[in-house]
Amino acid sequence: MLEYKAADAGRELRVVAPQFTSQRCSKGEHTDEASRRSQAVFRCTACGYESHADVNAACNVLWAGRAQRALARAG
Ligand SMILES: [Zn+2]
Repeated sequence: MLEYKAADAGRELRVVAPQFTSQRCSKGEHTDEASRRSQAVFRCTACGYESHADVNAACNVLWAGRAQRALARAG
């Protein structure tokens, strides 16, 4: 279904590993479960970056997909 929707929208679908995306800082890549202060709040224990937890996790998923694409293009 996702493949169909992505193709229909002219988008590329990439599957990335979800592990630690909610615990990793999207600014500095520090990973610590304590950074996930609540369901809604992410505050990095290393650099202090604060964001809505879902936004931080979404950025990590985006970066993972971009890294995967860059590696695929590099061969
Ligand atoms: Zn950080």
